[in-house]
Amino acid sequence: MLLSVERLSVSIGPARPLDDVGFALAPGEILGIVGESGAGKSLTAMAVMGLLPLIGGRIDGGAVWFDGVDLARLPEEDYRRLRGRRMALIMQNPMTSLDPITRVGEQIDQVSRLHMGLDRIAARARSIELMGQLKIPEPAAVHDLYPHQLSGGMKQRAVIAMALAADPELIVADEPTTALDVTVQAQIIQLLVELVRDRGLSLMLITHDMGVVAQACDRVAVMYGGRVVERGPVQAIFAQPRHPYTKALIGCIPRAGMAPGALKGIPGTVPSVSRYPSGCRFHPRCPQAQPLCQETVPVLDGGPTGDGVACHFPNGPRP
Ligand code: SF4
Ligand code: MG
Repeated sequence: MLLSVERLSVSIGPARPLDDVGFALAPGEILGIVGESGAGKSLTAMAVMGLLPLIGGRIDGGAVWFDGVDLARLPEEDYRRLRGRRMALIMQNPMTSLDPITRVGEQIDQVSRLHMGLDRIAARARSIELMGQLKIPEPAAVHDLYPHQLSGGMKQRAVIAMALAADPELIVADEPTTALDVTVQAQIIQLLVELVRDRGLSLMLITHDMGVVAQACDRVAVMYGGRVVERGPVQAIFAQPRHPYTKALIGCIPRAGMAPGALKGIPGTVPSVSRYPSGCRFHPRCPQAQPLCQETVPVLDGGPTGDGVACHFPNGPRP
């Protein structure tokens, strides 16, 4: 495994937003992390990237194995060498990653200059090639533009080029297309998947959309209330979802021919971090909850990183 997150707990002050989170990512694999906002997906990304201190968070249990090294215990200095070079983060809003007063291409150049030691000319050539692979038209001209001169979709392509510039082994993409138009979203996911597959990279793709998981991912970890509730290969999970929350997420995918407005959300609200429900955190919204569900936390039956489900009644309500 390239990345193996095991029994990860994260706290921010007195709150424990992530609890016993686990999954594994093999080289060349695309893993979806899916759930509604507030499930802990972005925090999981930040924990992997070593960015929790920026928001006052810390890892207080578990491990984040990356190529045999436990990142949960890695000094910041070593982390800095890893970020950008061996692992890169793509965030939802391209403007959080782009400096508004530096030319777009120069920002991509800087990554390969810093992490690969390329000179100015080689870095520029590499950036233009990458921009071309990201289907940015006239990449040599766009190289010299400022971020505000690009559309949202083009800016996000530039951010993806930046993430790829140092040839990292792992890309973490946190809702990389959520801020964009629906038509642009699908194109960019498609491009990202092609580039990742061509290079044999591993991708952790965070999304709230099961449709994106179906389009792009090999495996999926479904998160709810700061925990992983179901994990497995995408095909198997779509063929036979076992957790009621996974079933509900699949039911939210818009289908062709659906009347506009027919899109159904999941009834009820996502629990807040400071007041997670007792027992199974999904019980207030679960259509098949039983008294046991309020009392006892269901543990994922596949172990810390294996396939499985965390539900007392994965085969449906008791007769
Ligand atoms: Fe529903 Fe109970 Fe399963 Fe939780 S453990 S998802 S409440 S059936
Ligand atoms: Mg998020």
